[in-house]
Amino acid sequence: MRQVALVTGASRGIGRATAARLARSGYAVCVNYYERQDKAEELTAQLRAEGCAALAVRADVAVRAEVDAMVRTTEDAFGPVTLLVNNAGVAGQALFQDVTDAMWERYFAVNLNGMRHTIQAVLPHMLHEKRGCIVNISSIWGQHGASCEVTYSCTKHAIIGLTRSLAMELAPSGIRVNCVAPGVIDTDMVQVLGQETLRALAEQTALGRLGTPEDIAAAVAFLASDEAGFITGQVLTADGGFLP
Ligand code: NAP
Repeated sequence: MRQVALVTGASRGIGRATAARLARSGYAVCVNYYERQDKAEELTAQLRAEGCAALAVRADVAVRAEVDAMVRTTEDAFGPVTLLVNNAGVAGQALFQDVTDAMWERYFAVNLNGMRHTIQAVLPHMLHEKRGCIVNISSIWGQHGASCEVTYSCTKHAIIGLTRSLAMELAPSGIRVNCVAPGVIDTDMVQVLGQETLRALAEQTALGRLGTPEDIAAAVAFLASDEAGFITGQVLTADGGFLP
């Protein structure tokens, strides 16, 4: 059966590196994006020029109908999804007393509900085949407390709960569910912190540098591989030895 990966939020950052890595290792890849069609199509054009199978598909993962349409488009192009990488996410900082309903709801809608939408859309085929793999992207802030990031941290803790519980539920059906918890990774998401803070965060990292999107793509690729065939319900922390 053809290996087909759907990577959410793959136009930039960690998702982009993950989609590229999977495509170059033989997966047909759906590169999901939300706003940056230009970045998504630049990536798929580059991958196709290298002989890979890749398709850019827009969907707001927070909207079930858009996710369902994206999965149908992917299936029509490549066949059923065998690997789902739930990477799309939003982040930001605010004192807890300043968190608005809109912020709270949007973060949960994208970071958590988005995963429910994608998983429920790809599961019927995985259950039918009794095989499949799901990798969710949490964060070290899903493992530790994060001042001024309570909302984000709550969504990332919830992703770990989702991963562990769903892994137990789906294991009898031959479907593995795991999670990667990245440390501080040098992407657009962290640029708002400013260079001085990023330098301090690199110093707080035992390996002395920020992570790269490719560092996380490698962790996802491992969990997706047959080498990880006996691993499910786990959180793989890829943080360079970050000291919270
Ligand atoms: P990023 O550079 O900000 O990229 C975010 C990606 O998510 C973009 O491709 C964006 O699409 C997409 N996206 C945002 N909202 C979406 C929506 N509603 N529907 C579909 N796609 C959406 O972020 P990143 O740093 O690569 O982070 C990727 C994941 O890793 C996130 O879940 C994040 O929480 C997690 N993470 C990041 C770090 C870090 O230090 N960077 C650490 C731990 C965990 P557009 O380009 O179209 O806007």
